[in-house]
Amino acid sequence: HLSKRLQTVSDHVEPGSRLADIGSDHAYLPIHLAQTHVIDFGVVGEVAKGPLANATSEITKDHLLGVLHPRLADGLAAIEPGDDINAITIAGMGGNLITHILEAGKERLVGKEKLILQPNVGEPVVRSWLMANQYRILAEQILKEDGHIYEIITAKKTAKPVKYSELALKFGPFLLKEKSPVFVEKWREEMGLLARVIKNMEQATIPDTAKIAAIQSEINLIN
Ligand code: SAM
Repeated sequence: HLSKRLQTVSDHVEPGSRLADIGSDHAYLPIHLAQTHVIDFGVVGEVAKGPLANATSEITKDHLLGVLHPRLADGLAAIEPGDDINAITIAGMGGNLITHILEAGKERLVGKEKLILQPNVGEPVVRSWLMANQYRILAEQILKEDGHIYEIITAKKTAKPVKYSELALKFGPFLLKEKSPVFVEKWREEMGLLARVIKNMEQATIPDTAKIAAIQSEINLIN
């Protein structure tokens, strides 16, 4: 049984995909996809030995060693020539790390891969990387689970570069249009947080008025 977060990520993997799940940890996502026969080939990449051992033992226990291939590797280095990967999932880490993994592994990307990304924080950094590298955002989701709000971004390389506005990069082009209750909740919370930061800053002996003004304009933007 997958978390709602990983279930939503897995919903974007098309049947018959050749998947690379990078930073797989326990490998729950590729195992679920293999068990439901969505995929019959998956690379399970992990940079750390402990998580890789977990992944390998879960995969072995479920008799999926012929289908899922656990590999100790940094980021996209888990992908080998001949894997013919056309879907990549990177979930459950910060946007900076996801962006770093994509940037460092660029030469392993042939351009046909659907990227399914689930940053825990720092979504704008991911969108900016996608735009700078000529990807088109295909879909976005936002969901709440156990008190956390998660965003999922899928993208594919495009022949024509797409220009996203500052607002679209910050809030997400699809999420901004949709304005779902969870989206509204996320940004209300963020405004509340920023308002508290301003309150605290105003208590200082010499308040940093420039910084306060910058945060206030951030609040206005969100509003
Ligand atoms: N993807 C799973 C999920 O969403 O539930 C696991 C997320 S877990 C919090 C993040 C995993 O990414 C850790 O197991 C960590 O070892 C791995 N990781 C971090 N940096 C990595 C890198 N450069 N390459 C591969 N794996 C990495």
